[in-house]
Amino acid sequence: MTTEKPDWLRLQKALTIEAEKGFGDLMGRQYRFSEFLCLTFGKFSPEMLVQQDNTPTEPHRERWQELAANYADYPNLNLEQRQSLIAQTRRYIYQLQKIEAGEPEDKLEDSPKVSKSLLKNPKTPIVTELSRRLAPEIDQKLSELAEIGPRRAEKLARLGLCTVRDLLFYYPRDHIDYAHQVNISELKAGESVTIIATIKSCNCFTSPKNKKLSIFELQVRDNSGRIKISRFYAGARYASRGWQEGMKRQYAPGTIIAACGLVKETKYGKTIDNPEMEVLGHPGDTIESLTIGRVVPIYALTEGVIANMIREAVIAAMPATIHLKDPLPSGLRQKYNLMELKAAINNIHFPPENDSLKAARRRLVFDEFFYLQLGLLQRQKQAKQVQTSAILAPTGELLDEFYKILPFQLTGAQERVLNDILTDLQKPAPMNRLVQGDVGSGKTVVAIIAILAAIQSGYQAALMAPTEVLAEQHYRKLVSWFNLLHLPVELLTGSTKVVKRRQIHSQLSTGELPLLVGTHALIQDPVKFNRLGLVVIDEQHRFGVEQRAKLQQKGEQPHVLTMTATPIPRTLALTIHGDLDVSQIDELPPGRQAIQTTALTASQRSEAYDLMRREIVQGRQIYIVLPLVEESEKLDLRSAVEEHQKLQESVFPEFQVGLLHGRMSSAEKEEAINKFRNNETQVIVSTTVIEVGVDVPNASVMLIEHAERFGLSQLHQLRGRVGRGAAKSYCLLMSSSKSPDAQQRLKVLEQSQDGFFISEMDMRFRGPGEVLGTRQSGVADFALASLVEDEEILILARQAAEKVIEIDFSLERWFLMKAELKYRYERLMGGAILT
Ligand code: ADP
Ligand code: MG
Repeated sequence: MTTEKPDWLRLQKALTIEAEKGFGDLMGRQYRFSEFLCLTFGKFSPEMLVQQDNTPTEPHRERWQELAANYADYPNLNLEQRQSLIAQTRRYIYQLQKIEAGEPEDKLEDSPKVSKSLLKNPKTPIVTELSRRLAPEIDQKLSELAEIGPRRAEKLARLGLCTVRDLLFYYPRDHIDYAHQVNISELKAGESVTIIATIKSCNCFTSPKNKKLSIFELQVRDNSGRIKISRFYAGARYASRGWQEGMKRQYAPGTIIAACGLVKETKYGKTIDNPEMEVLGHPGDTIESLTIGRVVPIYALTEGVIANMIREAVIAAMPATIHLKDPLPSGLRQKYNLMELKAAINNIHFPPENDSLKAARRRLVFDEFFYLQLGLLQRQKQAKQVQTSAILAPTGELLDEFYKILPFQLTGAQERVLNDILTDLQKPAPMNRLVQGDVGSGKTVVAIIAILAAIQSGYQAALMAPTEVLAEQHYRKLVSWFNLLHLPVELLTGSTKVVKRRQIHSQLSTGELPLLVGTHALIQDPVKFNRLGLVVIDEQHRFGVEQRAKLQQKGEQPHVLTMTATPIPRTLALTIHGDLDVSQIDELPPGRQAIQTTALTASQRSEAYDLMRREIVQGRQIYIVLPLVEESEKLDLRSAVEEHQKLQESVFPEFQVGLLHGRMSSAEKEEAINKFRNNETQVIVSTTVIEVGVDVPNASVMLIEHAERFGLSQLHQLRGRVGRGAAKSYCLLMSSSKSPDAQQRLKVLEQSQDGFFISEMDMRFRGPGEVLGTRQSGVADFALASLVEDEEILILARQAAEKVIEIDFSLERWFLMKAELKYRYERLMGGAILT
């Protein structure tokens, strides 16, 4: 608390002006008259009044509080009451001045009559009432805050910060925690640290090789040692002299800075990688005075918005938290051990220490997950309100017949998943289930059984796959089963001939055709089903939302079964498929041999070719996969075309080498695959078009070039092309990268064949956004939450959301929660987050 002496003159002046201008509660530079008085008296404390004779001033305290309360209510007073209050205050201040001057005290007047009766709620502590009055509103525009003003508000708007709420919920990206301060001499690679050091020299320049890259370098030292730290700035604007000179001024030698980040070991010694930096003081300041016990927030900035501007703006907005109502009921907060919202917002910005920061983060991460789950579950529940889907019997003649001709027993996992599906199909609410299962786990059989359940109940089914190759393959498999069952099935793709196409259309609309397999062609307009009861979508992540919706619209709320062979980590699945029911086939059929996986370097290439030759001689076949189609000058990638030529002419001249890449027409692709399938070519050189679903059981070696350029899950997918027959199979991961990171990633594949584990690792290495590949959803857009670090909180948030939806899915009884959900979804939808 400040012990600055009260400025009696200024107070008297304010009172005089208010009286002269007619008691209109004038607006001052920063505050209204009543606010200023209220604040002033609210801040008074006994030690601020210096009494010459040392008699205690404590008795005045009550009077000050009362005055503060009176002025808080000033706007509600009538003219007469205002006049009287001001007159009394002026006299009282006059007395105080005399006390301070050591003059004899007049008998103090009684408090003004208006006092207590006018307090709206006498039980509210005065200070709270005051802060409430003076705090900005949550939805107030930043330009209206005196501490910010229109000019700075305009700059903040570039960060999307327009209202007080925006600022409060603009979480810092990081904090500099001076508790983790470390001496430079003690830095260890791999640790996250803060150093405090003095700048010795500073350099800022544009890379001579790359005009778009600017480098900012500091040599800094503390008492224990020195270190170089650099930051890299991509973008033409950083090449400007003005910006670079500005940086040099800001980080002039002698300046004390804090730098915070991960310590890395490089060829040139230790460094802190792209650290957060903060200027603590200027030449001559002492370090200690600046840093004791502080945890300082770091915000994402943009041009023209400097760190302190945001910090000051946040400080100005912070009192508004007093208006924040926590939408989470206290019971729920208690159950999940969550900090109150107000406290969480306060602590996320300005935590007194690390534990409160953790607790705040936990609460706010919970919120991010909770509202997303709440929305997804609400949508799921809504979809299930529809009760018009086909009721499909789980048993019947057709299924009995199928089980008779099925040459193997379903695995436990297949049984379990099938049971989930058949249970769904008996209900009039539409099924919306995703089956995740590794390559070869036997999803297709499960899908066929679901399809037969639909057909035996008199409905039609559709199976959609993302590529012609895959659709064709499904079709082949289905034809062989359906022939045995004496059922027709057709294939519809972009290359289906017009005559055939017409015939299919007509058979569909009469209902003669019970099953249609195909690509996107299935959802194109003239396709009309008679009674579509079930839609199966393979490799569902390859399709967009609208495409799936379109297929669904071909029937009356058909059941939907989606399948994917690209398992994704549980956190990611909950986030993007939280409105689906998910089943996992987490077991492979018996008798599968592990695929021997080895990471190789260029020097081992000839050994790899020897192994391949031995395999071919034994009648097996080989895949060679490359990342790109054509040579790109920058990246030293082997192009498929050139590689094919080289392999055919100089490596395997005695065998036939085929070629498959994305630029070939469908007919050419099909021809290449057919030749490989029939063993007319023993080796196929391919780009990743084969990733999805090519099934050639005779292939026993998969060689992947530049393996480091693929994601782990993708490599796992590719590997799944071999090991489909009885022979032992190999996967060779060729990479020229020496980076420890790349080698570590490839090790994961050497050691594991479990798609779920691999996807989990993939997410850890590359982050959730990359794992999904296509940015089909904004999963990476959480402000605080991490799908890698916060799994535990996500599971709790999901549980909590399930409970809430179960009790009242309309959320009518929690209107604050409902409003918050709406608010958050509107923002999310703006960024198209949901599938
Ligand atoms: P996915 O589509 O999941 O990659 P598939 O359904 O194509 O896998 O099955 C891969 C192979 O395993 C197929 O040849 C299939 O006939 C066979 N298969 C499926 N389930 C079993 C099982 N329970 N026992 C033995 N073989 C099976
Ligand atoms: Mg499959």
